[in-house]
Amino acid sequence: PGGGPVRRVTILGATGSVGQSTIDLIARRPEDFAVEAVTGAGNLDLLAHDARRLGARLAVTAREECYAGLRDRLAGTGIEVAAGPSAVAEAAARPADWTMNAIVGAAGLLPGLEAIRRGGTLALANKETLVAAGRLVMATAETAGATILPVDSEHSAVFQALRGEDGREVERLILTASGGAFRDWSLDRLADATVEEASSHPNWAMGQRITIDSASMFNKALEVIEAHELFGLPASAIEVLIHPESLVHALVGFRDGALMAHLGAPDMRHAIGYALNHPTRAPLPVERLDLAAIGRLTFRAPEPDRYPALALAWRVLEEGGVMGAAFNAAKEVALDAFLARSIRFTDMASVVSRTLDRLSGDTTLPILGPDSAMPGLEDVLEADRIARRRAAEVVERMRE
Ligand code: NAD
Ligand code: MG
Repeated sequence: PGGGPVRRVTILGATGSVGQSTIDLIARRPEDFAVEAVTGAGNLDLLAHDARRLGARLAVTAREECYAGLRDRLAGTGIEVAAGPSAVAEAAARPADWTMNAIVGAAGLLPGLEAIRRGGTLALANKETLVAAGRLVMATAETAGATILPVDSEHSAVFQALRGEDGREVERLILTASGGAFRDWSLDRLADATVEEASSHPNWAMGQRITIDSASMFNKALEVIEAHELFGLPASAIEVLIHPESLVHALVGFRDGALMAHLGAPDMRHAIGYALNHPTRAPLPVERLDLAAIGRLTFRAPEPDRYPALALAWRVLEEGGVMGAAFNAAKEVALDAFLARSIRFTDMASVVSRTLDRLSGDTTLPILGPDSAMPGLEDVLEADRIARRRAAEVVERMRE
């Protein structure tokens, strides 16, 4: 970086929390980057603003009905405009050296796959992609010669701790979790937790969905599956540890008992910047830790009663096949129902676990079992659809 060739980059989900942190880093070094495409959804002012200031060639909104609004905002700039989910996927397929996938939810899967098929480097913040279709995503990258760099802070930490190591010598991975908004609440208060209370994170500023998923620990359940898919470790070798300070992001344990930890301020620009500069390291505008001032770091085991969502990750890995896709889809439905105030905070884990119970015995669900053949894209999409239907039924029954 600095004086090297200009790299062509695309940012999917540019208007979100990770997308904005990515743009912050790119905009500081205009001589190093040329922006091919930026995509967003309903936030047209911000999308148009960033497309202009970055000099993007293409701006895309995922919402068809927002086409005219985006076109009008970019009139006279020469920036191409498009709308709709397939336009987002087409943007991802356009030539670029580096693509950030910071779309939230299962909507990130198809654009992410397009970017992988086209080759180059995919910086992957959209963990749902790996949860829903990890084997397919990794195999597609292998075939296309694409490089996937994890952007989730824990997975970036593991990736960095593994650099220069022999993966066969890894004994375990430890992902840390802040414990989320309700880590110190009494258990009997949890059922009454509101959307507003769940939407405020003690350490990280993030999108609303992942913030609520952090409070419920669904986020960490997704991350356990994500770690399994990225690093190929069995479910039994992945652990979760509550670490309220969010300064140690993950640890890798080796067969000689050594633990390599990654520390940094809770700022996504660490992980994004690592992926942006990989394989080199460049200066980043992040806080430097003053460990003497911090004084102490604390750790504790997650309480199963407080975080019933967490254990579902190991169940999903055990059942294998398309269960990850079903799990993510059911989680999205449960979260939507909580956001709509249709169910309580503590109902989300019940909705997902009941949905999984129904799917475990469902012979219409394609491909189950840890040793089953790799699910194809159609299997994944079908499992997603079936799980959304079943989860919606569970929500309905719960409301009656
Ligand atoms: P966000 O809600 O702030 O932003 C989401 C982005 O996706 C926005 O640009 C939005 O316009 C776009 N989007 C929404 N719906 C879409 C759709 N249907 N089709 C296409 N685009 C759509 O989310 P975020 O917090 O930035 O998280 C993005 C992803 O990164 C998520 O998968 C999240 O789990 C992951 N992640 C986020 C953080 C964080 O610090 N925010 C940390 C680790 C991982
Ligand atoms: Mg994370």
